[in-house]
Amino acid sequence: MATIYFIDVTNRDGVQTARLGLSKLEKTMINMYLNEMGVFQSEFGFPTTRHEQYYLQANLELADMGVLQPIRLGGWIRGVVDDVEKAFKLVPKMKHLNLSISTSDQMIQGKFQGAKSREDVASMMVDAVEAARAHGAQSIGVNAEDASRTDIDFLVRFASAAKQHGADRFRYCDTLGYDNPFTIYESVKTLAENVAIPIELHCHGDLGMAAANSLAGAKGAADGGQDAYINTTVNGMGERAGNADLVATVLAIAKSKGFAGKYPLAKPIDLKKAWKISRFASYAFEVPIPINQPGVGANAFAHSSGIHADGVLKDPHNYELYSFDEVGRGEPELVETGRAICSGEYTGISGFRHIMGRMAVTFEDTAQAEEVLELARYANVEAQKPLIEDELLFIAKYPKIARKLLTLIPPE
Ligand SMILES: [Zn+2]
Repeated sequence: MATIYFIDVTNRDGVQTARLGLSKLEKTMINMYLNEMGVFQSEFGFPTTRHEQYYLQANLELADMGVLQPIRLGGWIRGVVDDVEKAFKLVPKMKHLNLSISTSDQMIQGKFQGAKSREDVASMMVDAVEAARAHGAQSIGVNAEDASRTDIDFLVRFASAAKQHGADRFRYCDTLGYDNPFTIYESVKTLAENVAIPIELHCHGDLGMAAANSLAGAKGAADGGQDAYINTTVNGMGERAGNADLVATVLAIAKSKGFAGKYPLAKPIDLKKAWKISRFASYAFEVPIPINQPGVGANAFAHSSGIHADGVLKDPHNYELYSFDEVGRGEPELVETGRAICSGEYTGISGFRHIMGRMAVTFEDTAQAEEVLELARYANVEAQKPLIEDELLFIAKYPKIARKLLTLIPPE
């Protein structure tokens, strides 16, 4: 039976969002939370980008240490041999890659300006797949950028060539959010039946259908006999109108009418972590969660009108499709209303000991406290806002990893 996996791309598409970004420590925390949640893979960054290399290496070390396990960490590069070579030079231990190249006539003509044909694009991709395999990549996904505006016969040929040359998955990118649930279902089912390769769904929200299209695309893959891998981002962060929201899409798969019974998840996702990861992403990106966001919005379980309040008090099932504790809500949260001592890039040892003491973290000696403080200062330089408790605990627990992922060395 075909099953559904989740590949979160917050640390790739999410951080490409105009006007927004994450520090390397914030990206690492996203990987940690995704792992706790049971997400299959995190697309954790750009191995051809120089300032990303130490962050990527440090996170791969966390995987080797068993900390970032069982989640898989996959890099994203363009589907050209040069990018493969550069990726393995900067991040030699990279194991999982997605290679991306445009497949629509609009983009082939619009970007390459007549210098490349459809067949050129397919052969560039094939060369990149072979190069990645030669460098020891364990899994390779091939991304068809703008798949939804690509001629379906060419898309089948392109995906077949990817499979023949050793790609493990094919990513159907609805790059502009152009599909609707009916069209993406048909296109993906056609690909699954004719190419017989597991299919990733990468959906954007330009027409407000990213989660619905992800679900319909997954159904298309499964009905065509193939596993589906849904791309999401936390809080739907991503280019323009954003990507399919992680929590909303998991809820859609798990809770929508009859779907989960026919199309199960490959491995369980712990929705009780939804509140934590959404709140963290909101703080890190500095983008508030909309009041009406599924599952995690302030009003997702709020009732005031007479009939609704009366009904939900008599039986929550009258007006709630799922319970607030299923998405990790309901615990009281302490909010400091008086004096606050926060971490910052100029924090001193006394304030730092106070902050860490509140979390019951003690140090062996002053040297150890100063080492962790120094790393926290660097993390604050990147974040430009107080670190949260989990970030400080991470630095105290993994100082060597923290030092590595905070390392930024501009080229000479
Ligand atoms: Zn995208």
